[in-house]
Amino acid sequence: MNIPLLNLQRQYRRYQEEIDAAVGRVLASGRYILGTEVELFEREFAAYCGGQYCVGVASGTDALFLSLLALGIGVGDEVITSPHSFIATALSITFTGATPVFVDIDPVTYTIDVAKIAERVTAKTKAIIPVHLYGQVADMDPLREIARQHNLFIIEDACQAHGAPYKSERAGTLGHAAAFSFNPPKNLSCYGDGGAIVTNDEYLAKQLRLYREYGSEQKYHHRLIGYNSRLDALQAAILRIKLPHLDEWNKQRNHNAQFYNERLHDAPLTLPIIADASVFHQYVVRVPQRDAVQTYLQQQGIETGIHYPIPIHLQPAYQNLRYQGGDFPVAECAAREILSLPVGPELQPEELEYIVRRIREYYHLPFANV
Ligand SMILES: *Cc1c(COP(=O)(O)O)cnc(C)c1O
Repeated sequence: MNIPLLNLQRQYRRYQEEIDAAVGRVLASGRYILGTEVELFEREFAAYCGGQYCVGVASGTDALFLSLLALGIGVGDEVITSPHSFIATALSITFTGATPVFVDIDPVTYTIDVAKIAERVTAKTKAIIPVHLYGQVADMDPLREIARQHNLFIIEDACQAHGAPYKSERAGTLGHAAAFSFNPPKNLSCYGDGGAIVTNDEYLAKQLRLYREYGSEQKYHHRLIGYNSRLDALQAAILRIKLPHLDEWNKQRNHNAQFYNERLHDAPLTLPIIADASVFHQYVVRVPQRDAVQTYLQQQGIETGIHYPIPIHLQPAYQNLRYQGGDFPVAECAAREILSLPVGPELQPEELEYIVRRIREYYHLPFANV
């Protein structure tokens, strides 16, 4: 068998007729950037998240960056976030001229360790970006309490958490703004780059619409120094086909995670917790001899991933922040041990079975209870 970490072609083939029709409709329409498809998607995605406004932009990185900018964050400010994320989280802060300030993660959920945030708050701190990593929502109630006490904005990095539940709410409405990415590997994805901000703040939504389009509301009248960061009509039309399936896909991801947890419970791996606050963008296990296991699985035709091998504070790009090894031991340990197994909704039962069997074989575990 050959099992990729992600089988995007299989998803496309399943919905090909509808997707092709939507693409054809946009190509024939003559409107390729923003326009009706984008407006309708914005409305539908805001409603899906339980939020009031959605602003489509060019990427998840821009969704974070423009949110910070529109909230007035810039040079001299500090923004607290996690060092265990895709680097875009920190880049978005750097782009505004502000400084990312890292806080270690929780070893079980891989999201920011909320108990360690307060000690990093200074007079310069303006915002917190909790990352709902792997589809797991950060511990938002205590985080919101800290933000309230210190008067900080919360921008959710929800790029891996489309539809992720948190108590009676959903990722996207748990802070002042939430950034989503729709790039191909995400739980809700288009066929290229795309992103969006969800917010309940009308003024913020309005500012974001200016920032994404050269600072103009009316063509050739520019109110502020804006950017060119729009969602394409083609991508919006594709997202509108996929959005109605998102809950069903997330449910399948949870089933797949559950399948692994049940059948690997006796393996010498640390399995993720199956709480009701994850949509399993990744299914991540901890393996002490990680690289050997990854190589073995590769030989068996099973592609795995490492999200991410180097914490952001140790990336050469961020040398100037002068962090060093040992600063965030939980994140650094995770980076050495984590391994992502295929968990996408398009996985077939026989593929899941095959993966479980190869892992059990590796650890010389009996097959009887599989
Ligand atoms: C994908 C991702 C981003 C960036 O999104 P792009 O659309 O690639 O710019 C930011 N943060 C996290 C956690 C992501 O997974």
